[in-house]
Amino acid sequence: MNIDIIKNECNKQGINRIIKYNEPLKSHTSLRIGGPADFFCCPDNIEDLKKVVSISQEHNIPFWVIGNGTNLLILDSGVRGLVINLNKGFKKIEFSDKIVKVGAGVSLAYLSKIALNKELSGLEFACNIPGTLGGAIINNAGFRENCMADVVQNVTFLIGENKIEKASKSNLNFNYRECNLKGKSVIILEATLLLKKGNREEIELKIKENIKIRETKQPLHKLNAGSIFKNPPGYYAGELVEKVGTKGLSRGKAEISLKHANFIINNGDASSGDVLYLIEEIEKRVKKNFGIKLEREIEILGEP
Ligand SMILES: Cc1cc2nc3c(=O)[nH]c(=O)nc-3n(C[C@H](O)[C@H](O)[C@H](O)COP(=O)(O)OP(=O)(O)OC[C@H]3O[C@@H](n4cnc5c(N)ncnc54)[C@H](O)[C@@H]3O)c2cc1C
Repeated sequence: MNIDIIKNECNKQGINRIIKYNEPLKSHTSLRIGGPADFFCCPDNIEDLKKVVSISQEHNIPFWVIGNGTNLLILDSGVRGLVINLNKGFKKIEFSDKIVKVGAGVSLAYLSKIALNKELSGLEFACNIPGTLGGAIINNAGFRENCMADVVQNVTFLIGENKIEKASKSNLNFNYRECNLKGKSVIILEATLLLKKGNREEIELKIKENIKIRETKQPLHKLNAGSIFKNPPGYYAGELVEKVGTKGLSRGKAEISLKHANFIINNGDASSGDVLYLIEEIEKRVKKNFGIKLEREIEILGEP
């Protein structure tokens, strides 16, 4: 791939201002780990997004979308290709009674706060999930008994170079931490959510409860990427990790949290290799001791 050709192409299309070259991705993830992306693009609008996708397809450059990078381990070798981030331009929040149209780049925690101010219930669970709407839909993000599937009505996404499609909730097959857009080459642009009329005090109380539970149980003041593993049916992943004696295990500056064994924390300049070592060590021990193959919730992105 010739970077100068791409630069010229972006210049011609008038989108050079939204492209960064060799952008370190660690500053775009909650673990603060990750090497550079060849190209990093933060489009302000759908036209510029289509242009950049079209250039990437024309020049066979693979692309990935990231939100707040709160469910990602990006490898130190970085990403050979284009990384797209919608956190700048796709921030619309439009209420119409109980219905809200939300841009993919909106922070979920912020949205939860705005819903509270409108006395709308349904997003209390999201009050401190640090992702964006786009990432939350892909992962069907949730806390305790609630998740995105409870509120999503439909999702609008870009597929291919310039085809915009809309899928209703029933066509998205929401499941535990996934929907059927996951792993596909689609870019979520926005979604429509249906909330319920609520009572301000009750909504606020629920939010406070959720915050309290998290603060007591999770290492929120350390760099992390949320749960590393999904809970296998009938088990809590954190309990399994604890039972195989890996709680507190460290490698370099990466450590399996003493506060919550399903979290890996970065105590400084941990490498992606340090984190991967710990992930694989847990997987091996849980398989050996319980015969259970843990499924990763965290996604790994980058050149192996
Ligand atoms: C402290 C902490 C607590 C957390 N607590 C929870 C929790 O309670 N529940 C929970 O479910 N998760 C939790 N998480 C994990 C994470 O916040 C969620 O999975 C979140 O939904 C990820 O959103 P993101 O914007 O960070 O996505 P990223 O991590 O950037 O990306 C995740 C996936 O979404 C895709 N993606 C992102 N945006 C788009 C888009 N616009 N179009 C298409 N694909 C897109 C990416 O390609 C990737 O596959 C936590 C994380 C942290 C750090």
